[in-house]
Amino acid sequence: MICLIVKPLFAPWRLLAEQSLLWHLPRDIPGVAAIEKDLARLEAGWHGEQELDFYLRSFPDERVRIFYDLRLSIEEQKFQIDTLLLTPNFLAILEAKNYSGTLSFLPDGQLVRIISGRREGFPNPLTQLSRQKYLLKKWLVNHQISVPAIESQVVIANPAAIIDNLSGMPSVNDFVTHAEQIPARIQCWFKKYPDKINEAALNVLEKQLLAEQIEDVPDVLEKFKIKTANLQRGVCCDHCRNYSMQRIYGQWACPFCGIRSQTAHEPMLLDYFLLFGRNMTNRQCRELLMVENRYLIPRLMKKMNIPIAGSGAGAGLYYKRPAHEIYETYYYQRRKNNITTKSR
Ligand SMILES: [Zn+2]
Repeated sequence: MICLIVKPLFAPWRLLAEQSLLWHLPRDIPGVAAIEKDLARLEAGWHGEQELDFYLRSFPDERVRIFYDLRLSIEEQKFQIDTLLLTPNFLAILEAKNYSGTLSFLPDGQLVRIISGRREGFPNPLTQLSRQKYLLKKWLVNHQISVPAIESQVVIANPAAIIDNLSGMPSVNDFVTHAEQIPARIQCWFKKYPDKINEAALNVLEKQLLAEQIEDVPDVLEKFKIKTANLQRGVCCDHCRNYSMQRIYGQWACPFCGIRSQTAHEPMLLDYFLLFGRNMTNRQCRELLMVENRYLIPRLMKKMNIPIAGSGAGAGLYYKRPAHEIYETYYYQRRKNNITTKSR
């Protein structure tokens, strides 16, 4: 008996897109530091979600269905829920935060983080949580689903972070907890809400939540005001980071360091869909890899199982962004390379 993961946890699209953007930017472009800072923040958040996932996965209760990173919209308002628990007895919104240091919740609603003697203000996650709860209720009403009990919780992922609620605010006691306490909270909610909705209604709700997902990769070029012309094209050498690999006898060869590779083009192709949109034509692909042979592209794509769409045999065809899980493998690969490769 374990929880049922309906929508799995993957490295967020925004994190993947920013990593990919950094990979294609020359180091001397202004703005690189800002992207690196934002990426570090996203990675910390992602680790926080993984920490929570660890406790949820080990929580043995098949009544709990888990959705990670739900993105919904209601009356033009988009909202995102890190983790939603769907059970026959209640719904629960969990918002993981990976803060370190001491977190002081002040009576005026401010959250102050104290770390190494420095004080820093943060947006109060409780405010964010109330907004999500409000919008989720509205979404349910709009879909003519009778609204079950909705619990919500800010989850502090870092076990060493101290939650400081000196003024004893009930909102903090009730709605903020460490990740390791989450299984106990879930047990309490089951006791608090003994009434169940029936299995059929639960399945309908599950289907509808999945069907209305907005799966979007944010436009990071726009966000950081980076011009397309500044991005490096070609096939990047993992070893020396030069974008000059040449196709020789079915392999990529780096003229700078002599490394050869069968797969150096793979992360480049995946990057396209993160930076330029969900579809790519043969021509766009050749421009990206800086190769001329149009017959090479279908072969490379086929090997990677990149889905194809459109009609006809040539110009009407295009390639589609592959599934989220494919990206995660490359994400870890790149992180490893980034640590082992000296920047130019
Ligand atoms: Zn090289």
